[in-house]
Amino acid sequence: MKFQSLRGMYDLVPDNLSSWQFVESKIFEMLGSYGYKEIRFPIVEYTDLFKRSVGESTDIVEKEMYSFEDRNGDLISLRPEGTAGCVRACIQNGLLHNQTQRLYYSGPMFRRERPQKGRQRQFFQIGVEAFGFPGPDIDLEMIFMTSAMFKALGLSDVVTLNINTIGAADDRSKYINSLVKYLQKHESDLDEDSKRRLKKNPLRILDSKNPDIQRVLSKAPLMIEQLGKNARDEFDQICSTLTKRGIKFVINPKLVRGLDYYSKIVFEWTTTELGSQDAICAGGRYDGLVEQLGGKFCEGVGFAIGLERTVLLAEKLEIVPENFFINSDVFVVCDESVWSHGILVLEELRSKCPGLRITFNCGGGSLKSQMKKADRSGSRVALIVGDDEMLSNSVSLKYLRENKEQELVDVKVLPGILDSIFSIGGD
Ligand code: ATP
Ligand code: MG
Repeated sequence: MKFQSLRGMYDLVPDNLSSWQFVESKIFEMLGSYGYKEIRFPIVEYTDLFKRSVGESTDIVEKEMYSFEDRNGDLISLRPEGTAGCVRACIQNGLLHNQTQRLYYSGPMFRRERPQKGRQRQFFQIGVEAFGFPGPDIDLEMIFMTSAMFKALGLSDVVTLNINTIGAADDRSKYINSLVKYLQKHESDLDEDSKRRLKKNPLRILDSKNPDIQRVLSKAPLMIEQLGKNARDEFDQICSTLTKRGIKFVINPKLVRGLDYYSKIVFEWTTTELGSQDAICAGGRYDGLVEQLGGKFCEGVGFAIGLERTVLLAEKLEIVPENFFINSDVFVVCDESVWSHGILVLEELRSKCPGLRITFNCGGGSLKSQMKKADRSGSRVALIVGDDEMLSNSVSLKYLRENKEQELVDVKVLPGILDSIFSIGGD
């Protein structure tokens, strides 16, 4: 019997991972330059945590979570997103009291959705959260950072920023009343999902992907028309500062996000290059969440980047540099009869040149076939060890890319020479 991975859950084999590593390294680099620190927390949590935070009447909690009964009867779930676990960890570890935090994490999330290109049951996100900042400066900084990330990735031309505000709590409850009144007048045109949400969570109807519902909504009142002065001013300030920075955006008054915990600014980066899986990054402010999960009031704002979709974009646009697919600088070709000498020379070299990526040709073979492997490895240099080299305590150094020259080099000076070829010591 051959085992297969679960539907919607995929392996990432080394050849696919170069583009992942490229995307991740650019994003992590940017996070570092904005002062974000990594946090790690479990993939499994109590189911109640997600019910409380993501929301009972969301698609995620109603039908997408992988939930189990543990052997002791506890109800637990694989995380469908990261914010809930991150907030739980911050409260539990006392990271929010009288402090601010800028945090990020990376890892798999699980949602039992219908698998499609760019929509999986296990998928990866890089999540970013900042705590203890009332905004809107941090909100704006986060949007700047996402913009800088897409720029660093070379994706600026194919992504669009959508923003909206869903108001502070009291604005929102007034708005929800007017939305419900409007939708009740059109109740006969609503689908089952929307009818149910009308009672439980009316705001989420705005997020419906059903075109009939979107038609009903076309004349619905908009949050943005009913904002209080504070929320209005804040939103205007964010928009005008984005414009000053030259960041294009679309105000999308129906953007509400799929999770219950947002307030004020919400944003999403979309692309037209990936068909209907068009959202690659989404986030916003969630000031009430920490309290809702049992902590003292603490503001929160964050976003998550969907890595599968970002990598698909990077691959489609062929923006991953060639050198990301190469994992070897030096390939060591060694005559079978002297392999135990060769491997020692090489181990010494490794200790003298940390950072240099050296591949030893394990498994022997003719010199010719080993040289072919050296070439295929993408390495810039081959080191050849045979009888003569062993006797003179040297290696033959052959350039594989530039001039194909070969020279005999004493092993004592080899680290220095490789250092200058690859400038591994930096400057
Ligand atoms: P969508 O509307 O596409 O279902 P979402 O609103 O459910 O997205 P979020 O919960 O905001 O998504 O997650 C943030 C990002 O994570 C999304 O913008 C997307 O890039 C990615 N993402 C969400 N669900 C999946 C999935 N099932 N497979 C792959 N990526 C996903
Ligand atoms: Mg979804």
